[in-house]
Amino acid sequence: MVERYHLGKDTVVRLLFALSTSTLLSLSLLAAEPEVPSSVSYQLSFDNVVHHEAAIQVRFDAVNSTHLVLSMSSASPGRYAPHAFAKNIYDLKAMDSTGKALPLQRISPSQWSVAQHDGTVIVQYRLYGDWGDGTYNQIDRTHAHLNMPATLLFAENYAKHPATLRFKLPDANWKVATQLQLQADGSYIAPDLQYLMDSPVELSAFSQRSWKVADQQSEATIHLVLHHQGTEQQLDSFTEKAKAVVAEQQKIFGEYPKFDYGQYVFIADYLPYVDGDGMEHRNSTILTDERSLKEADYAQIETLSHEFFHAWNVERLRPADLEPFDFQRANMSRNLWFAEGVTNYYGKLTLSRTGHFELQAYLDKVVTALNKVQYSPGRQFFPATGMSELAPFVDAAVSVDPTNYANSFISYYTYGEVIGLALDLTLRTEFEGLSLDLLMRQLWLEFGKTGIPYTEQDLEQALAKLTNNPAFARSFFSRFIQGQELPDFAALFAEMGLQLTQAKPKQAFLTSATLLEQNKQLKVDSNTLIGSPLYQAGVDKGDLLLKLGRTKLKSKKQWDKALAQYKVGDTAELSFSSRGKTYTTQVTFAADPALMLTELKDATQKQLHRRQLWLGSLSNT
Ligand SMILES: [Zn+2]
Repeated sequence: MVERYHLGKDTVVRLLFALSTSTLLSLSLLAAEPEVPSSVSYQLSFDNVVHHEAAIQVRFDAVNSTHLVLSMSSASPGRYAPHAFAKNIYDLKAMDSTGKALPLQRISPSQWSVAQHDGTVIVQYRLYGDWGDGTYNQIDRTHAHLNMPATLLFAENYAKHPATLRFKLPDANWKVATQLQLQADGSYIAPDLQYLMDSPVELSAFSQRSWKVADQQSEATIHLVLHHQGTEQQLDSFTEKAKAVVAEQQKIFGEYPKFDYGQYVFIADYLPYVDGDGMEHRNSTILTDERSLKEADYAQIETLSHEFFHAWNVERLRPADLEPFDFQRANMSRNLWFAEGVTNYYGKLTLSRTGHFELQAYLDKVVTALNKVQYSPGRQFFPATGMSELAPFVDAAVSVDPTNYANSFISYYTYGEVIGLALDLTLRTEFEGLSLDLLMRQLWLEFGKTGIPYTEQDLEQALAKLTNNPAFARSFFSRFIQGQELPDFAALFAEMGLQLTQAKPKQAFLTSATLLEQNKQLKVDSNTLIGSPLYQAGVDKGDLLLKLGRTKLKSKKQWDKALAQYKVGDTAELSFSSRGKTYTTQVTFAADPALMLTELKDATQKQLHRRQLWLGSLSNT
């Protein structure tokens, strides 16, 4: 999952899936598998797409309990916050094999109990969905974009049973994109509940490109399915970028994951009415963006790169504290800095190696993350493992009351990305020939490929083994992962022929909070940061800035103009109003803390070579 502007999914119990199958397809593409008898069968029809509704029927056969308990998930694999998916289903009816109505009792907000059945229970309900991302559903005239936890009622008793799905497509041009397996009778099958819930489905008149990949371990077909309003040429260009990402990442681990059915599917919706997101699954990923490929100048490749890296890191190389995934509650892990953060690091590094990012563009991405971690006050409250544990509160979680996350939280995506960077540069400069690539490959062979979930201690021991230096591993984990220190990045970057400097050392600075012009007033529109001059002056979110020195403040322009009159270390009078009362105080201008990362003019051959090994394509090594 990408960070929830965008964010993302990180679990599904792997072991259960070894059985499963996956395919993408329009019916004509793939030889269908013979039918597997299943005691759970779903039918999804879409006769009311104009009002964002689907009609769903599920049939349970061989029901051997007096009461059949039906559940709607309240968590989505890969999202850490709880979700009330049951809120969007209604018109629920139950009947037996003869069609006789059965009593249905709601036993909890997301569960129902059905009694008096004849061994068969058939349930019908309506589903509403109009939010196209990696967690929810969108049903309209153009597509049915379905995330299974938000779509399907299930019975826990049938968790280990295969389930079939049949889609009644409302439009002859629509096709089916999914990692579920097509059967000869046109239905799709999942071997069990976990795989079913992990299998999003796109039904639309999408375009598609496919290519084969192979290595000493396996061969697979990669499908890129795109529902968009752009051109086939744009899809061709995007596919070339995706092919480069897929090939480059294989070189880090030395092999592709064994995709359960020899298929992997990128399911992309780049449409003005979806919400930007990315969500990885075992043999597929959901990619959504409200911008077109042209509007975003193919920036969507960043999310694709992040999500494909998850095919190894988290879908198969998995933290033990996320196992097994519980559909009824939020799932917490201390290792999201690694599962998401290191994936964020490689998502961008891959794009430097494929040449999508020019050097300076990549360095700007790196320093943006570094500035967030270096200057966010949150690091004084939690280390990276602690930030990981806060995911259930921050990962697309909804709450009414405001938070102070700007001061108390650093995303484990960004924090982990910076730790990945620190570890990679440290390994490359202190241990000849070593790199984070080699650590990822070692972890893959030991835990990912074997399907053994890793613990925090396993990660440290793997580093000790790679470096043959347990003291180094202990120190790195205790200082930078379980501790709140940051390494000397300026020294590490210098080894790569790069210089880390303050971008505007002489610029007077009071705050990085968002300032909003409203009714000819200047409002502070985000939390002021602990340690910043405006925070020390007692100004915070919601307050109005009235006067700085002799300048009355009605606009951002006047604020910038007033600031420009001062030097670092100067003091000035500031008046502001808070809760309707006016206050006047003294502020002292600090230097703008933002860092920048640029090339060292006179880098040595050794430094340039090291940088090439780091940022260049692995196919050159
Ligand atoms: Zn992710």
